Amino acid sequence: MRAIRHSEEALKVALISKSSALVKQYESLDPGERLLMNEAFRRDSILFRPITLQSASDWISAHPEPTQDFEEFYRDPYRKKPTPQSNTIYIQAIGDLLRYLKRKKPSDAFCIVGITTIDLFPKESWNFVFGQASLTEGVGIFSFARYDSDFYSPNYKGRLKRPKKPSKGDYSIFDDCHTPAITGLLLLRSCKTLTHELGHIFGLRHCQWLACVMQGSNHLEESDRRPPGLCPICLRKLHCALGFSLARRYEALVRWIDEGAAVAPERAAKFRNKDPVDLPKPVEAFQEWREWILKCLAVLQK
Ligand SMILES: [Zn+2]
Ligand SMILES: [Zn+2]
Repeated sequence: MRAIRHSEEALKVALISKSSALVKQYESLDPGERLLMNEAFRRDSILFRPITLQSASDWISAHPEPTQDFEEFYRDPYRKKPTPQSNTIYIQAIGDLLRYLKRKKPSDAFCIVGITTIDLFPKESWNFVFGQASLTEGVGIFSFARYDSDFYSPNYKGRLKRPKKPSKGDYSIFDDCHTPAITGLLLLRSCKTLTHELGHIFGLRHCQWLACVMQGSNHLEESDRRPPGLCPICLRKLHCALGFSLARRYEALVRWIDEGAAVAPERAAKFRNKDPVDLPKPVEAFQEWREWILKCLAVLQK
């Protein structure tokens, strides 16, 4: 295992930049927000740690890419920015792909992402695996089927029995397809992927600064290793693109984890015949992250 350790100075420049205008903008942020973001270059930070590499198949080893610091993000002329007219992220759950594809992108959409637990890669020649996003069009589609712990086992129920050659516009291949049970782990993996891909739609490139949800990932073990949260450098990028209170965002994330969390097994029986969207959220896999968010909130409130 190898850790990518940038110097304190390098992380400081990546976060704050050397441009006097951007330094000024940084200094105008709320003092608590700066305190939290400054954790990026505190060597003993318990919140933000270096990226670790386990093998040559990890993303950074396999895909050398230029880094993107805050200033490069800020000055990217092709970065897609929300406007007062298009400021909504639509997340569309897809069961019936055809019906979805016919639907139009709403006019106030900043982007629209389709999510499904159906495997979108039933044949080698089909071109998506986990998903595809188009930065310029603001559309993406993601399948979480391969996050099912059963997916790679011989007992996986979603495998096609008779391979069928799909024709254009014919999505009957997805009829009555298997959808995996939504476990805490599947939900956590799905949320991480969606956050990562939405980050790309806002113009954030792969993070090479600190352990971060925007790190590139080449395989499931590497995706599991990256944290669900943003490092301070990526956080400043998102903050600059959207303008929000860091504390309100973290509080909303904790609320999302706590609201509708899984109920005790004896009570779960009454949910059995309900529509899957009404089921309690399995959030046990989010607890470690919840603790981390609370620590961030404590720094913000100092
Ligand atoms: Zn990516
Ligand atoms: Zn990052």
